[in-house]
Amino acid sequence: MPNVTVVGAGVFGLTIALSLPRHYDVIIVARDMPGDPDSLDWASPWAGAGFGGGGTKPNDPEEMAMLKAAFRYYWTLSESRPESSVKKMRDVYFRDNVATDADLWWKDFMPDYRIMDPSELPPDSNAKIGITYTSLVLTPSIYLTYLTSLLHASPNVTFVRKTVSSLDELLYLSPDVIVNATGVGAGTLSPVNDPLVEPVRGQTIVIRQPAIDHMTLRSGIDYCYVIPRGDGTAVIGGIKEHGKTSPEVNPEIRKDIAFRANQLDPRVPANVDALDVVRDIVGIRPGRKGGMRLEAEILQLGANKVNVPVVHAYGQFSCDSLGHHPSLTSLDCLVFPGAGGTGYALSPGVGRKVALLVDDFIMGDKFPVPRMAGKGTTAVASTVSEEKGRCEVM
Ligand SMILES: Cc1cc2nc3c(=O)[nH]c(=O)nc-3n(C[C@H](O)[C@H](O)[C@H](O)COP(=O)(O)OP(=O)(O)OC[C@H]3O[C@@H](n4cnc5c(N)ncnc54)[C@H](O)[C@@H]3O)c2cc1C
Repeated sequence: MPNVTVVGAGVFGLTIALSLPRHYDVIIVARDMPGDPDSLDWASPWAGAGFGGGGTKPNDPEEMAMLKAAFRYYWTLSESRPESSVKKMRDVYFRDNVATDADLWWKDFMPDYRIMDPSELPPDSNAKIGITYTSLVLTPSIYLTYLTSLLHASPNVTFVRKTVSSLDELLYLSPDVIVNATGVGAGTLSPVNDPLVEPVRGQTIVIRQPAIDHMTLRSGIDYCYVIPRGDGTAVIGGIKEHGKTSPEVNPEIRKDIAFRANQLDPRVPANVDALDVVRDIVGIRPGRKGGMRLEAEILQLGANKVNVPVVHAYGQFSCDSLGHHPSLTSLDCLVFPGAGGTGYALSPGVGRKVALLVDDFIMGDKFPVPRMAGKGTTAVASTVSEEKGRCEVM
């Protein structure tokens, strides 16, 4: 059976593994896995996670199609798989930089979409327009466990706990294709060493507030959200600190989050000391200048320079599209409409695309047809590497 080795067990790695054909042998190699103790080394446990309309590249047709597909997928899960934690949730979206929805490509797609009456806008928020529609939320720890349980139920899937400093170290698994879903790790993983990767620090607070019955998001000049998880708790945030990785909870950001969340939903106390706090969260988003990397290439790995197809899928946050709120410079708050963390929102579409890219190497037009011995051709034996028993890819 074809062997596909997926590096990374975040929402991308797990979703990709689930999207691959069932007759493949899938090996998931990762340093961090669902259920592990808290770690800032990966992003997936720390997401909100709500479904926004934004991708990592403004108005990119492929990302738009992925987000639409993902919305349908999560909608189905909300109806058929309560154990996934996915729930439908009304979303209220305020924009404080423009008074129009003309540029929102998803406005005709979201169920129950309507522009709110000006009287419904929160008075202290500088909102210029309010939009409401039905969206989706999930609880990351539960959703990751759900994905993992599906993978454990598959006899063709194996998990290997391993920190990989170079993809060379995976040759012993004899992969036909490697999928690189290492998030921010792609910046230091050899020979990828992607210089465009950049950590984007987030900080949120999980509060107990059962009365909050809908999600609220504000973007434009400022960026803030209140995401109820449907279990009596809500996540309030946020912040996007470009290039920062401090694991410490910043008390000034905490205060500011409560203040801004209260402007969105008055049921959140404006005074941080009045919050019923479940926990503080710090998380590092896998940012990448220019947006997500989703492409295949052939890398030469190992001492024998064996050609190995590698499909990259990482970087869900477009660092170079960030703005800066002048009044929040001390907090280094970076804002951009729709460019928040989108790993959960993109993951189902990314899984489908990666499956196609992998298949190009296994069954498709990049399948390595061995050259036949004869006039003007190269003998098969001369293209086979001992290290891998692999043919050169033509
Ligand atoms: C505060 C916050 C709020 C967010 N809110 C939302 C939201 O509302 N909606 C949304 O869609 N997204 C949100 N996100 C973004 C989302 O969390 C990320 O986009 C997503 O989790 C990234 O998933 P990933 O699988 O690509 O990377 P990760 O989750 O970082 O996983 C990377 C995997 O690769 C492994 N790995 C890395 N390097 C190595 C190595 N060298 N060797 C072995 N293994 C390695 C790690 O151990 C891990 O298993 C938020 C993020 C944060 C921090």
